[in-house]
Amino acid sequence: MTLVTDPVAVQSRRTDRSGWDSGGSPAAVVLAESVPEVQAVLREANRDGTPVVTRGAGTGLAGAAAGTQGCVILDVSRMNRIREIVPADELAIVEPGVITAELDHAAAPYGLTYAPDPASAAMSTIGGNIATNAGGLRCAKYGVTRQAVLGLDVVLADGTLLKVGRRTVKGVAGYDLTGLFTGSEGTLGVIVGATLRLRPIPAATATLAACFDDIATAARAAAAITAAHLTPAMAELLDRATLDAVGMGVHRAALGVHGAGASGGGGDVYGAGAGALLLVQTDGLAAEQEASAVERVLAPLASSVRRASTAAEAESLLAARRGALPSLERLGRPLIEDIAVPRSRLGEAADAVAAISAETGVPVFTIAHAADGNLHPIIVTDGSPASADAAWEAAGRIFALALRLGGTVTGEHGIGVLKRRWLAEELGIESLGLQHKIKRVFDPNGILNPGKAI
Ligand SMILES: Cc1cc2nc3c(=O)[nH]c(=O)nc-3n(C[C@H](O)[C@H](O)[C@H](O)COP(=O)(O)OP(=O)(O)OC[C@H]3O[C@@H](n4cnc5c(N)ncnc54)[C@H](O)[C@@H]3O)c2cc1C
Repeated sequence: MTLVTDPVAVQSRRTDRSGWDSGGSPAAVVLAESVPEVQAVLREANRDGTPVVTRGAGTGLAGAAAGTQGCVILDVSRMNRIREIVPADELAIVEPGVITAELDHAAAPYGLTYAPDPASAAMSTIGGNIATNAGGLRCAKYGVTRQAVLGLDVVLADGTLLKVGRRTVKGVAGYDLTGLFTGSEGTLGVIVGATLRLRPIPAATATLAACFDDIATAARAAAAITAAHLTPAMAELLDRATLDAVGMGVHRAALGVHGAGASGGGGDVYGAGAGALLLVQTDGLAAEQEASAVERVLAPLASSVRRASTAAEAESLLAARRGALPSLERLGRPLIEDIAVPRSRLGEAADAVAAISAETGVPVFTIAHAADGNLHPIIVTDGSPASADAAWEAAGRIFALALRLGGTVTGEHGIGVLKRRWLAEELGIESLGLQHKIKRVFDPNGILNPGKAI
């Protein structure tokens, strides 16, 4: 175990990738390297009533990993061993600090893949993914992190090591504590080990890039895929403003697209004046047939539909999607919203977000895990208080919209600190009250990530 008290290193963990700064001074950072070390830290903190903020890679977008006044930041990123891959059972047993994409790479030689792939997979940790119940691009077909977690080892607030779940794909003995810890944002226990489901690498993939006049039409097209009962592995949506920010010129070069406009904005790669791009990938033995069926659904609404002809071309398109958020971060400080709506209402939601942007005068960039109905309207501020206030005003209207459409204020990033004020409205006070009681059962002294998630 390493204790870090250097003020610069400690203060740098007052925030996470959301940019929210707690403003408080954490007491110290502990870099834990083993389960007994995590247990020792929690035992002592519980005795003294010291808050503990568990941290993986700090890529969270809701302020949940931000260190607060007087807390110990328990960084588990050094617990990063893949302990076992069991091909015959299609599972892996890992420590919490394993980087998400590294597990996927380690499974590949066995013909297996770890399906949940947040766009941050190259940086985020498995422990952080489980604590936020992260989604990702392939979740359209394979489900979010919860669907991949079979069992967990968790250290409770008093230092007790608890094992929940199992190695089997089925199992219903007792309450589902594995599910309860998944998505609990470090407020119920510290995840120190996980048994995870792996999947066979799909035999084939087919990738489509469809252009639309505007994002609402693209969103309606994505909803039409669901309505046609087709299940692509992913369906990712980017609006024109985001495509421009990503600088698709780079990707055009990779695609071998040359000539007029080849270094300008992104929307006209596949058709002049395109206002949005929908990337759809199908997979499995019938990938090509499914892609053809998707193409037939999209064609009446799209200005163009193109099938990637090589794996490199498909990867280049997906890289543009994964690079969207970092590209927007280069423009200013992004406030990233994460609403999800019933998939049939995605077009309505896209229209309403555009209307909110027009009415408030706040520019909104939109990307979406479209097949999940999960929209990320992103407001880039210049960091000034006035621009932050305007952004929150627009964000409040976007949250109200999500709830009005029967959706949620957070599809995958979590409540953290930033969305707490909207939680009671979504859950209702009875449900929220029950959640506070559950928290007290696991953590009677309230030391685990207080003030976050619920
Ligand atoms: C460019 C970019 C793209 C992103 N794309 C996606 C996306 O597609 N889908 C998505 O869902 N998210 C996405 N995110 C958000 C983020 O990557 C995820 O929330 C991720 O799961 C956080 O993992 P982390 O290791 O960084 O966790 P951290 O940020 O360190 O922590 C997040 C939360 O988990 C808790 N925690 C961390 N480790 C543990 C542990 N071992 N035990 C208990 N609690 C723990 C923390 O206390 C905190 O509450 C993106 C972020 C970025 C920067």
